Amino acid sequence: MSAETVSVTGWGRTAPSAARLVRPRSYAEARAAVRECGVRGAIPRGLGRAYGDAAQNAGGTVFDMTGLDRIRTIDADAGTVRCDAGVSLHRLMEVLLPLGWFVPVTPGTRQVTVGGAIGADIHGKNHHVSGSFSRHVTSLDLLTADGSVRTVTPGTPLFDATAGGMGLTGVILAATLRLLPVEASLMSVDTERAGDLDDLMARLTATDHRYRYSVAWIDLLARGAATGRAVLTRGDHAPLDALPARARRNPLTFRPSRLPAAPSLLPEGLLNRRTVGLFNEFWYRKAPRARAGELQTISAFFHPLDGVPHWNRIYGRGGFVQYQFAVRHGQEDALRRIVHRVSERRCPSFLAVLKRFGEADPGWLSFPLPGWTLALDIPAGLPGLGTFLDELDEEVAAADGRVYLAKDSRLRPDLLAAMYPRLADFRALRAELDPRGVFVSDLARRLNLQELS
Ligand SMILES: Cc1cc2nc3c(=O)[nH]c(=O)nc-3n(C[C@H](O)[C@H](O)[C@H](O)COP(=O)(O)OP(=O)(O)OC[C@H]3O[C@@H](n4cnc5c(N)ncnc54)[C@H](O)[C@@H]3O)c2cc1C
Repeated sequence: MSAETVSVTGWGRTAPSAARLVRPRSYAEARAAVRECGVRGAIPRGLGRAYGDAAQNAGGTVFDMTGLDRIRTIDADAGTVRCDAGVSLHRLMEVLLPLGWFVPVTPGTRQVTVGGAIGADIHGKNHHVSGSFSRHVTSLDLLTADGSVRTVTPGTPLFDATAGGMGLTGVILAATLRLLPVEASLMSVDTERAGDLDDLMARLTATDHRYRYSVAWIDLLARGAATGRAVLTRGDHAPLDALPARARRNPLTFRPSRLPAAPSLLPEGLLNRRTVGLFNEFWYRKAPRARAGELQTISAFFHPLDGVPHWNRIYGRGGFVQYQFAVRHGQEDALRRIVHRVSERRCPSFLAVLKRFGEADPGWLSFPLPGWTLALDIPAGLPGLGTFLDELDEEVAAADGRVYLAKDSRLRPDLLAAMYPRLADFRALRAELDPRGVFVSDLARRLNLQELS
């Protein structure tokens, strides 16, 4: 197994750290890698789409899990797939869609691995209906710090610590997933505009239950009466009879297109209030006031950014922060205050989405809670950003909410226990499972995720 020392970052390209990168290609190689990882420990990594430092380990080892990439068995009658943890959701879609099956949950990119999806217990536009990714996992193989491979099933403490456990309970080697049957690879999408934040929240609350998938793009540079204006896109997999005759001949085709990669040296500051303000204005005006039943491809509906490889370079060398938080139903005023503060602060954010979550998931460090989640991208070099986000964190914690660890690169550790009430259970299980602290990451060190307090 080859090993090289490389600089590793998350998708936001902030806080790089150097680590020994090892790429196991079998269970035996993964076991050997755990045995030999050294005193600074190791962390598994998928496709590096976590924005912050979750899949980094300064001075230690990082396991690149994309070498474990086999789809092992597909039960096309029962609708399950068993695959290695390094298989991407993109690959699963390529193989499963022609058979009439879709992944149960997809985030805003297909370029994530099954291991990363379980490690962060990711959510999609269907969280209000389907919950997070790990709800659809029927079993997983976990390589723990003692070198053993355990089969872990839902409803057990080890499963609940691993779902959303950010790679800190061990290396997920393989998993079995329940799939969603679909008749076509097209989506039927309704689009509408909301004039302000209250209008947006009222529309989502009143009619989200009609849709399997729901999300709103929100213009965080709009101010005054237009604060929180938004474009809602909601929909479901199109039934066969909604397709035009031409598309019915090959209804399960999946061939996403790709544009040229974003250039590597875009100037710093290209995304400023003026350029982003112009973009947001255009995006809002371009959306129809109301349109129903538009047919869109899976990539256009779920993963528009995947069409531009390395789009994260548009933020320049300084990179960017994605800030994502959730607050419970009943805490809408906190959400309103934060949206107003971000708008008043004039953060140049063009990627901002608001979504209503369904029930919380069993994972002890899973992010979703029944309520609202807002995610926004902000250039990391924005003056005063650290202090501003610290203040937002306090507002979120005071509202009984939390920030998403898969997006985080800067949260203060003292707020974590309030945000994640099962943190003490997580630390206790880890202390028993991994007393030498073999599994550790930059995120875990920064937030004391592994320490018993
Ligand atoms: C454009 C974009 C859109 C996104 N949209 C969403 C969204 O809608 N919803 C959402 O929830 N997230 C979203 N994300 C975040 C992304 O889904 C998660 O960060 C996911 O974990 C990334 O998977 P990965 O394979 O790249 O894992 P990495 O980023 O490499 O790692 C993420 C975490 O998983 C752990 N991990 C990885 N592989 C394993 C393994 N084999 N065993 C154990 N632990 C492992 C790592 O240790 C780390 O803690 C988005 C990211 C991007 C870039």
